[in-house]
Amino acid sequence: MPTLADVVRELESTYDPRWAESWDAVGLVCGDPSSEVRRVLFAVDPVAAVAEEALRWDADLIVTHHPLYLRGTTSVAATTFKGRLVHTLIKNDVGLFTAHTNADVADPGVSDALAHAVGLTGPLTPLLPSADDPRRGLGRVGSLPAPLSLREFARQAARGLPGTAGGLRVAGDLDREVRRVAVSGGSGDSLLGTARAAGVDVFLTADLRHHPASEFMEAPDGPALIDAAHWATEWPWLAEAARRLTSGLAGKGITVETRVSETVTDAWKTTAECEDLK
Ligand SMILES: [Zn+2]
Repeated sequence: MPTLADVVRELESTYDPRWAESWDAVGLVCGDPSSEVRRVLFAVDPVAAVAEEALRWDADLIVTHHPLYLRGTTSVAATTFKGRLVHTLIKNDVGLFTAHTNADVADPGVSDALAHAVGLTGPLTPLLPSADDPRRGLGRVGSLPAPLSLREFARQAARGLPGTAGGLRVAGDLDREVRRVAVSGGSGDSLLGTARAAGVDVFLTADLRHHPASEFMEAPDGPALIDAAHWATEWPWLAEAARRLTSGLAGKGITVETRVSETVTDAWKTTAECEDLK
């Protein structure tokens, strides 16, 4: 009978908690290590809709990319959405496990899955290698099998990523040729300078703010930018994480069933043109 302890051991052998940033909070959030685990749901965000999806499917464990409590807490009372979530999970004997920045820097990690989703092939190298092991690191740089215009690449990326209300935002000359691409799942503001120094044709990430993006585009001869929904850039990793868990456990004679959440937990639900607002 597979236990939560078996599953956590496997997850932590794939996504070593020691790789996480010092400010991060990864690992088991709730759950009894001796509980039986047969079904594991993978999702980006630990939110109510994902917990409901887990209960509908009769999951025993939810693995999320984002932490529920990043900054700690002194209460899990069901007076906040986070406390309510903890209550829902414990009452239904569902565990919660987080692999966040330790999954970002893993090899393969979150940005490898993103790179494949938008059509990069061949070897992928970290955009910002980890100091202790340059095979791991943040973001990935890779190439397209054949050059595309920025317009064509943006369309290909949009098709490869799960749909969100906001779609993709593109900055740069739409006719410029794109071959070398940098990607980083999640908020990539801090990697703008690194992407420029890497000499890529385009940098695809999420959560780009006006001033950093505007100033980046003012400098001549830099990469184009594509800004996607944060959730969409990290969702492709879920299937990879699920595959690695099932195959790792299978090697030990343990079988679990996995599923990737299809709940869109991007915060933005629609966009409106000026005409719609009249
Ligand atoms: Zn994220």
